[in-house]
Amino acid sequence: LDREQSNDPLKLTQLRSRFETPRDRLTSADTLPKLRELHYGTPEHKAWSKLVVGRANGVCQCCGKVTKKLIADHLHERRDGGDPFDPANGKAVCWACHNTKTAAAKRARALGMPLNAPRGGR
Ligand SMILES: [Zn+2]
Repeated sequence: LDREQSNDPLKLTQLRSRFETPRDRLTSADTLPKLRELHYGTPEHKAWSKLVVGRANGVCQCCGKVTKKLIADHLHERRDGGDPFDPANGKAVCWACHNTKTAAAKRARALGMPLNAPRGGR
């Protein structure tokens, strides 16, 4: 009986949902299947994000715009080998800068030239 219980996937799901607020579950429902999105729900990421945004004092560290809506962004993205939880690897940016960077990074990757490629690559 014990073995059966520990293998029950339902139990895991129930345990998980207990840690999520109903709002979190709603907003993450669409992106949950993507593995990389799971990172953004971890307490480690939330703590990192809070620290990075908090120290920016409401100023975008990219364009200098004063805004209450800042996003913690990685200088070196995780997929490029950056440390996701290192405060030194983060900066707070406004939505406009974040979108611009995300679009540029996506374009660069499509061309095979990541924006944050390690130095000395050539
Ligand atoms: Zn900005």
